Amino acid sequence: MLYGYNGKILHVDLTKGTWEIEEPGEYWYRTYVGGSALAAYYLLKHVKPGIDPLSPDNVLVFALSAVTGAPVSGFNRYSVAAKSPLTGTIGRTEAGGYFGPELKFAGFDAVVIYGKSEKPVYLWIHNGEAEIRDAASVWGKDNIQTLKMLEEELGDKRIRVASIGQAGENLARFACVQNDLEHYNGRTGMGAVMGSKNLKAVVARGKNRPQMADPDKVKEIRKVHNDKIKVHPPNVALNTVGTTGLIKGLNDTGILPTHNFRDGTFKGADKINADTYHSTIFESKGSCYSCSVKCKRRVSYQDEKYGLDVELGGAEFETLSALGSLCEIDNLPAIAKGNQLCNLYGLDTISAGCVVAFAMECFENGILTTEDTGGREINFGDADVMIWLIEEMAANRGIGKILSQGVKRAAEIIGKGADEYAFHIKGQELPLHDGRGKSGMAMGFALAPTGGEHVECPHDVAFTGNDVSKLSAVGLLDPVEPLKTDAAKARFFSIGQKVWQINNCYGICNFCSVPIHAMTFHQLVELIRAITGWDTSLFDILQVSERGTVMQRVFNNREGFGPKDDRVIRRWHEPLPDGPLKGQSIDRRAFREAIDLYYELSGWDKDGKPTRAKLIELNLGWLLDDEVA
Ligand code: SF4
Repeated sequence: MLYGYNGKILHVDLTKGTWEIEEPGEYWYRTYVGGSALAAYYLLKHVKPGIDPLSPDNVLVFALSAVTGAPVSGFNRYSVAAKSPLTGTIGRTEAGGYFGPELKFAGFDAVVIYGKSEKPVYLWIHNGEAEIRDAASVWGKDNIQTLKMLEEELGDKRIRVASIGQAGENLARFACVQNDLEHYNGRTGMGAVMGSKNLKAVVARGKNRPQMADPDKVKEIRKVHNDKIKVHPPNVALNTVGTTGLIKGLNDTGILPTHNFRDGTFKGADKINADTYHSTIFESKGSCYSCSVKCKRRVSYQDEKYGLDVELGGAEFETLSALGSLCEIDNLPAIAKGNQLCNLYGLDTISAGCVVAFAMECFENGILTTEDTGGREINFGDADVMIWLIEEMAANRGIGKILSQGVKRAAEIIGKGADEYAFHIKGQELPLHDGRGKSGMAMGFALAPTGGEHVECPHDVAFTGNDVSKLSAVGLLDPVEPLKTDAAKARFFSIGQKVWQINNCYGICNFCSVPIHAMTFHQLVELIRAITGWDTSLFDILQVSERGTVMQRVFNNREGFGPKDDRVIRRWHEPLPDGPLKGQSIDRRAFREAIDLYYELSGWDKDGKPTRAKLIELNLGWLLDDEVA
């Protein structure tokens, strides 16, 4: 008996307009489990190396796991994956909310989408059935209009909708997928892949909750977990101010990305920090399925120019910094408005902010001029310009046509040395953390299979002093030194990454789970046992996590990515110009040595390819048939 799952994977061919159901056995589910690992399995099987990510040859996967929809705080995330049109690597991005659980209750553990529809369609998945329906009426509409119109068309206010806005339709390479207007599969351009397939939305509704092996045990652990969430300091902080508290924390320590990653302190930080946020635009707390942390923010503000809609969600830390400090904008309502426009049109706010900051620095250095922008100046600190550029990028208009390609491609198109200011890793713009103050996290950015990414490993600063005890269950006993780049840091990253990737494979929110938040390793293992009935262990779970990472690496190796791409941006090798960490930089040679040591620790060869022995150890022998593996 398979517990926790439906035992069904939905395969949809948009070219033929057909669908079929695969029923893999328990052995397969135990091997690939869910999320990023399960998605990587299908992409390795069905995406040929070298394809154009925006062609019908790409394959799009929505992947849940055994625990998705279990009534436990944080057990609600799902992955969307495909070859990324932004990076050319594997594209993958996780979101919370209610869509993942609803898709599970609608009867499937994953949806794998092939080909391209001739005309706009949406996928309606309900109680074990699928329909490919005409989306002509919602094509060209924003995410709010799409949600309301689909609710009306299907006659059900309780549908859950993962949709794209105009940015995805226009193939902006960092277009995202949204659900419920406040949850986003933000990164790597999965919205553009949906747009390229003429797929406007995936809509789910269902009442079938897969049986759990020991529901009483799940209930018992859920209670203990929720009780701890009420008092565990990191969760209390998340409940009180969401992630907005990070603005002050990072600014005070000198690593709040500012002026396109040049500086680490922002003089306007007080105007965009948690106190200002909660005394001006904060309306209420929001949540995801069955979560008692409630870290989401909802905002409202009456203003002709920067008026906010409570339905569209509030900016979180990454967006506050991307549209704020990175562009030197300290107008909080304007930043919140920029966030809501990205949500409405379906643009990733991290990439959007990085692209705006890139354009501002190009303008500052005379690389872009008013001749390129239709007469408009693009200066740091100009909130109206930031809003205008978001509109232009979503509409694929004017300078927005170039900028919506992401900083790497935009710099290639602009030329004139623009690449000096195009900060990306493997083509993806960076989340808002300065690696000069936490070199383990810099390794995470360099080695993330999706390019610059912050959900790859735990951040060093959370494991200094006695706080390293959060990782003692996996054998990390020595306090982490955030500024050092050495063998100990490579070990920390190598082990920490395996822990962090548990959450991406099992679809668990990092803000509820190991290693920082309320859930303990022991509870995690017990919950997975109680949901699946499997005789599993932390060892087994970490193997799933490593399997997911290795499959994604093989995908990237196949696409030609290797050691030269495992790097950080030039600015992090230059000294921080001011603030508490003035003078701090990452030594190039030490960083390269740490990356090479990571390959060794991981069982990868000098070219950054998992060895034959590693593939066999992880039960991935089938990848040996692939000539690149
Ligand atoms: S902690 Fe926040 S993001 Fe995570 S599941 Fe709960 S409400 Fe959602």
